[in-house]
Amino acid sequence: SARRRAEEAETVREAVSAVSSALELDLVLDQIITNLEKVVPYHSASLAFVDEKGVVQVERSRGHSAEEEKALRDISQLPIHTRSIWWRVMESGSAALIPDTSQDTEWGAQPHMPWVRSFACAPTTVKGKVIGFLNLESPQPGFFTREHVWRLQAFADHAAVAIEKARLFDETQRLATTDGLTGVNNRRQLFLLCEHEYARAQRSNLPLAVIMADIDHFKRVNDTYGHPVGDIVLQTVAKLIQRNLRTVDVLGRYGGEEFLALLPETSYEQAMAVAERLRGQLERTFPDEILPVPVTISLGVAATRAVNSVTLTWLIKLADDALYAAKATGRNRVCGVQEPNG
Ligand code: GH3
Ligand code: MG
Ligand code: MG
Repeated sequence: SARRRAEEAETVREAVSAVSSALELDLVLDQIITNLEKVVPYHSASLAFVDEKGVVQVERSRGHSAEEEKALRDISQLPIHTRSIWWRVMESGSAALIPDTSQDTEWGAQPHMPWVRSFACAPTTVKGKVIGFLNLESPQPGFFTREHVWRLQAFADHAAVAIEKARLFDETQRLATTDGLTGVNNRRQLFLLCEHEYARAQRSNLPLAVIMADIDHFKRVNDTYGHPVGDIVLQTVAKLIQRNLRTVDVLGRYGGEEFLALLPETSYEQAMAVAERLRGQLERTFPDEILPVPVTISLGVAATRAVNSVTLTWLIKLADDALYAAKATGRNRVCGVQEPNG
């Protein structure tokens, strides 16, 4: 029995260590749900978050059917029922055990899994506040013991620390990689992602396009309407560009009022069409109630059919040249160049 306990303790230690070693929140949540079964046996389990309004969001689940998972995600979008077990756990801040769901009034509010006969739930608590729940279900009445609940709570406490650490890590990452004003990638992150995409395109010798956008006569906006209005224009332009790109495209703030977009697997013609759409949409955005004058952008496009014939730096330089041409020929227009060997 002593050896079994030592082995169990070692398993729990391993589970906790796996959970604590992940940095990003997504990975931490994966680790929590994966390692939970090393700590307590169960039929199915879930990890949920609860926000200030009492709305529960199931983030990970294990051992449920596809329909149950869907029900879990739908049901839990609602604020916690005040007579539910989650409510009790949130109010008390301590774990709860339902040895037999058929004998329990609090269980009635969760009819999506009729086969569940015993249930255990531990809160994940950060700075004295319940931020989520670890839930365990079994079809067998009396399956979970006091010992199980105790271990579940101990694991939940470690999970909470890991979650909090990961949230801080994610926030720090976000601050370090995004531009504070516009929310798009900052220059450093932009180049990092561009190099990554370029390398990917190079491995498979795929086409690649770059769009450089610059606000026309932006200095005038600042000089006439003030810097804060200029900032709003910058935010609007960034949002508009972001909205018009695919999720695989990379967008960043290249300079003061210059944005760079990299479009993987995109032909010259497609990139020109995207740039033209951006130009047209912005033209229709202003004037508005904040700014009584039109705002336009000029865009330079450079594309290559096969990335191996041109470096990333050169592609960006070509886009910059094209942008310069757009400025020189009247602004509010798109100029493009296709890499000749590409
Ligand atoms: P062009 O059509 O040739 O691009 O003319 P422009 O006036 O837009 O070009 P210029 O490069 O001379 O001016 C860019 C201006 O962008 C100058 C700078 O004050 C402004 N700017 C840069 N960053 C910011 C910012 O974060 N907020 C605001 N409000 N303005 C910014
Ligand atoms: Mg400008
Ligand atoms: Mg500029």
